[in-house]
Amino acid sequence: MTRPSITMQPRKKIALVAHDHKKRDLLEWVEYNKALLCQHELFATGTTGRLVEKLLGIPVTKFQSGPLGGDQQIGAKIAEGEIDFVVFFWDPLEPAPHDPDVKALLRLAVVWNIPVACNWASADFVISSPLMHEAYERLLPDYENYKNRLAMEES
Ligand code: PGA
Repeated sequence: MTRPSITMQPRKKIALVAHDHKKRDLLEWVEYNKALLCQHELFATGTTGRLVEKLLGIPVTKFQSGPLGGDQQIGAKIAEGEIDFVVFFWDPLEPAPHDPDVKALLRLAVVWNIPVACNWASADFVISSPLMHEAYERLLPDYENYKNRLAMEES
């Protein structure tokens, strides 16, 4: 049985997001991994993106700020197959006005089998994986039954 999959190219599309109290951590992580990150294509929520762009001196595709819809925009890109890896340093000690959006983004990453790193160690493990530099067949769950679940009633 062949399983549905999507090819992640050697040059990955990486989304970066950090909540305000985690921005310093993310920027430190980005600086440490500068040489690796510059080989890939970067996306980010608004404020995170501006800071990363300034730090790295390479273009970052910036969405709205997280609370203004940026997390949802990244979720939409995941659903379109346009993001390969999410680094999301969310703050476990502070409630945020857009907590439902955060949950939605993390949920979509699971739905589409996207690697997500929510802390420094996870991000280190993923960024140093040999798969970051290779094409990778990302298996997709087979949602055909789900998509066709009402077809009987429609016919
Ligand atoms: P920001 O958004 O990068 O615009 O600060 C991040 C977030 O709070 O989700």
